[in-house]
Amino acid sequence: MIDPFNRTIDYMRISITDRCNLRCVYCMPRRTRSLPEAELLSYEEILRVCTEAAALGIRFIKITGGEPLLREGVPDLVRRLKTTAGITKVSLTTNGVLLSRYLDALCAAGIDGITISLDSLDEERFRLTTGYQRLDRIIRGIHESLSRPVTVKINAVLIDTGGEPEWRGLAELARTLPLDVRFIELMPIGYGRTFKGVAHDRILQGLHETYAGLTQDRASQGAGPAVYYRIPGFKGSIGFISALSHGFCRTCNRIRLTPEGMLKPCLCYASGIDLKAILRGPDKTNEAISRALMEAAAMKPLSHCFTGTIPQGALEQRVMAAIGG
Ligand code: SAM
Ligand code: SF4
Repeated sequence: MIDPFNRTIDYMRISITDRCNLRCVYCMPRRTRSLPEAELLSYEEILRVCTEAAALGIRFIKITGGEPLLREGVPDLVRRLKTTAGITKVSLTTNGVLLSRYLDALCAAGIDGITISLDSLDEERFRLTTGYQRLDRIIRGIHESLSRPVTVKINAVLIDTGGEPEWRGLAELARTLPLDVRFIELMPIGYGRTFKGVAHDRILQGLHETYAGLTQDRASQGAGPAVYYRIPGFKGSIGFISALSHGFCRTCNRIRLTPEGMLKPCLCYASGIDLKAILRGPDKTNEAISRALMEAAAMKPLSHCFTGTIPQGALEQRVMAAIGG
């Protein structure tokens, strides 16, 4: 699919649950009423959507949440997605708490990549950010993932707390471990609006001052929005997903499917297509699903609205855990 701004749409993020076992302050700081199971798209419904999406050129699927590993049967969903004609990569974004438990099954199912969200390596900071002491489990999950044939990435969202933002320890992970550490700018979605993020130029400047020979790695620039840098002697790269300071929309290649079946053309706007109504309505044909997917691609705006004037009622009101990031 090509959108109105000539961007190829080949990536779909699918959030399979709005539940989570952490309470990140900028995402889901309080327990909220989660969707009843009947309101979630079933795996059969998700697979139908993916079959049509693949026929339209979607190649990469990211499973996300809430915390996706809280929903039963993720490895089986991965296995079935991997055998869907046209889908070339299936990856997962997780907070890592349950990763060790499901890693063998995910790898046996053929998962290509695992992204683990980790904002701090400091026990106390981690607890303050996520509400739980789970850092050791997550670190274990990262190391175990590295011993498997999967791509491992770390995603870190840093909040400006007044002092030096904690990027150094996270960046240092890429020195000895073959993984990419990616800094994601905090977006003003849901509770993200109540915090100040760290602009990426600040981290980049710190990297330049700390590491001689830091160079932008254009070769590892994937289809997505991350910009990568390499440091001599490091096994992994440092990436930036700069939603705000460097407006990443130019390279946007994605559509999103929320747990309750809304197709979202853009993270920032409330608008979307109710795919569940189609899947469970009178016209539940493959053509109707396909039409909805094409309509979502056609609805993609040129850019997000985080930094501009936001039309009344147009801004996304869901919390990030209900969208999938
Ligand atoms: N629970 C999983 C996890 O944490 O990886 C998957 C869902 S989570 C919503 C996906 C990603 O969104 C995480 O990396 C998280 O840090 C990020 N995120 C959540 N709220 C955000 C915000 N307001 N701005 C930027 N990223 C955000
Ligand atoms: Fe849960 Fe992920 Fe949101 Fe943290 S960022 S509350 S782990 S969904």
